[in-house]
Amino acid sequence: MQYFSLLDSYNRKIHSLRLSVTDRCNLRCKYCFTEEPVFMPEDTLLSYNELLTLLHICSELSIHKVRITGGEPFVRHGLLSFLRTIKEELPHIDLRITTNGILLERHLQELYDIGIRHLNISLDSFNPTTFKQITKRDLFSTVYRAICKSIEYGFIVKINVVAMKGVNDSELDDFIDFAKVNPVCIRFIEYMPIGFTTALDASILWSTDDILSEIQKRVTLEPQISTNDSGPARVYTIQGGKGSIGVISPLSNHFCDTCDRLRITADGTVKTCLYSTEDISLRDALHSSQPKEHIQHILRNAIATKPRGIELFEQRNGNVLAGRTMNAIGG
Ligand code: SAM
Repeated sequence: MQYFSLLDSYNRKIHSLRLSVTDRCNLRCKYCFTEEPVFMPEDTLLSYNELLTLLHICSELSIHKVRITGGEPFVRHGLLSFLRTIKEELPHIDLRITTNGILLERHLQELYDIGIRHLNISLDSFNPTTFKQITKRDLFSTVYRAICKSIEYGFIVKINVVAMKGVNDSELDDFIDFAKVNPVCIRFIEYMPIGFTTALDASILWSTDDILSEIQKRVTLEPQISTNDSGPARVYTIQGGKGSIGVISPLSNHFCDTCDRLRITADGTVKTCLYSTEDISLRDALHSSQPKEHIQHILRNAIATKPRGIELFEQRNGNVLAGRTMNAIGG
């Protein structure tokens, strides 16, 4: 399929969308949630019909890679039929899901039948006690089982690990061992100061350069050529292993120049950058069934004003609050 490209003011082509279907979640990860989360009122969420309308419009604007996220997408009722409808009505869209894996196992067959092939599953620790400390829920084995089953089914699995010094840095060997024997990409994401604090907690920050040099003491890594599949990650195959290692460095080695994405929150707000406090609302336009040209116009304007996040980060000396916690943005 041939796409025309939508360019922002930095000449970046915008092709991908993170679409959040809910801000609710069945975990309470400490880097994602505040202590006492306040959720969006139900009536402010976009309906599945509105989300579908939005996807049709985005598709016409050359956005052809869509990741469904949240909160936790599987806690919203009706998700599977929504995914099925997307695949039926917009079969050219490369549709992927980011999940914490808690409710995943029971849906694997249906997801496979619908035609979903890519799953990003978050798992910050292979240690049940640490998992519970991070997520405030005692559900490590549920996620671990879902990951193993997803691999068995033949999904292309990426495991997202928020890398935190003093929290999961002692587990590098476990992560490497898992990626050696399983065809998965384990991606270490630098912890971003969005969520429970606006200030950068330097004691937690574990830079991807440090992570890579630690890993290279243990195994030989070979850089992979960046593809449409890599997203913001730099990916390395493990010599003699089945899987790969990725690093995502929003802080230490930003990827603003190649950023091709928009986020839309569950209540219909466009976020053009994780580091931006600007909210551009589509909700009223969608709720009042405005013509699609009007919604396209809002999206085009949003894309035109997409910033380079690193500049915002530097202007605020590392005080980065995107105006919302991560569960309410859609990671
Ligand atoms: N519930 C789903 C999940 O757990 O994957 C989707 C939403 S979650 C917000 C998406 C991703 O954002 C997860 O991989 C999570 O680890 C990451 N994330 C959330 N807050 C973060 C932060 N402060 N720094 C880095 N990554 C973060």
